[in-house]
Amino acid sequence: AQEGILRRQSSRESAARTYARSLPIVPVRARGLTIEGADGRRYLDCLSGAGSLALGHNHPVVLEAIRSVLDSGAPLHVLDLATPVKDTFTSELFGTLPPGLADSARIQFCGPAGTDAVEAALKLVRTATGREGLLAFSGAYHGMTAGALAVSGQGPSVRVGRLPFPQDHRCPFGVGGPTGAHLAARLAESMLDDPRSGVREPAGVIVEPVQGEGGVLPAPDAWLRRMREITRARSIPLIADEVQTGVGRTGAFWAVEHSGVVPDVMVLSKAIGGSLPLAVIVYREELDAWQPGAHAGTFRGNQLAMAAGTATLRYVRENGLAGRAAVLGERMLDRLRRLAREHDCVGEVRGRGLMIGVELVDPEAAPAGRDGDPGPADTWGDGAGGGASGGAGAPLTPSAPAPLPAAPALAAAVQQECLRRGLIVELGGRHSCVVRLLPPLTITDEQAEAVLDRLSDAIAAVSR
Ligand code: PMP
Repeated sequence: AQEGILRRQSSRESAARTYARSLPIVPVRARGLTIEGADGRRYLDCLSGAGSLALGHNHPVVLEAIRSVLDSGAPLHVLDLATPVKDTFTSELFGTLPPGLADSARIQFCGPAGTDAVEAALKLVRTATGREGLLAFSGAYHGMTAGALAVSGQGPSVRVGRLPFPQDHRCPFGVGGPTGAHLAARLAESMLDDPRSGVREPAGVIVEPVQGEGGVLPAPDAWLRRMREITRARSIPLIADEVQTGVGRTGAFWAVEHSGVVPDVMVLSKAIGGSLPLAVIVYREELDAWQPGAHAGTFRGNQLAMAAGTATLRYVRENGLAGRAAVLGERMLDRLRRLAREHDCVGEVRGRGLMIGVELVDPEAAPAGRDGDPGPADTWGDGAGGGASGGAGAPLTPSAPAPLPAAPALAAAVQQECLRRGLIVELGGRHSCVVRLLPPLTITDEQAEAVLDRLSDAIAAVSR
């Protein structure tokens, strides 16, 4: 049955970026960290619905919440009318928001996907400020709809010619320690000061506290605080895209909490729906410039997703899963850093909480030059996102040794070796050379060890 399904699917479904191509699994059952295929094989799933399964697959509290809506006779589709389910979800969500935002927050339910909420955030700040430009960052990923793509600084495969925001500009993201962070903030500031940049007075700045798809690049706290100072001084709304980093993933309930930064807008999706589609923005009420009807959409009231989301938010909060992610994540990173010392092909190991990236590099090649192909594994500072101006292409860390070139083939081989060993991992980063781990926050110590055992074996197998 499995072979037939895979054959039919791959002949009918587009090859546009899809996990199905690299992960030929036909899942039929799942619980927690484990997925079972139609062929009876079991896998440890560290992709977790691209980070949306904070509690893993089919957690009992999530199933119970969904069942209780189904059994209650409540309508499943009510557009965006007020319901008890929505009221409870909103209260639970507001209870988790950083102080400073929680006091005066507004919520907007968006379409089902993260990219819908990004669109809403961009439109909101443009409406509220009456301005056009947007400052975004190299390596960023905000979604696949046109507006979200325009502020995503990914490689050519996700970019599609001219996009509707004429003034989007990308600044290198602050990687490379305090010096890089400082320089990146200065570059952003100089773009805002440069009359040629087109973003002197942008409608907003959008940032991921940890770039996920970009290759697991945590924004240094000091850099984020500096961005907050710069944007506040200029009355520019700061949008934090916490679609992937939210709900405890990085070791704090929201990743902005690590730096103490309070953004003006937060974009939320993935885990807030407890495995079902849900996306919202929350923002300071002063920004609420929408006219009635300015932002509608049919699927903004998914009752099952709100119930599953409430159960998830509550479970993460009541069980301190953010703190647990911080501790376990650090332990996993320690072991991976030891692994990096044993294998030349493992470049940087980085992450925050249970959002972890292991970069695969080519140890035989000379350090990558700025024109190298594939380029340096861990930077986006060379204008790869396009559109950067005002000196934004300058190297971030002039004194740091050049990183080794990315090894995409090696990373793909590691992914396949992991699969053979019953471990599902995802690839990310500019050259798809970063093996990403996004396990559920409920992963046990023993399961975490099993994941790392399999990953270590897979890396050993390819580095022979
Ligand atoms: N923003 C971030 C930070 C993301 O990681 C993603 C998805 N990976 C999105 C937005 C887009 O979300 P979706 O795929 O649900 O449209």
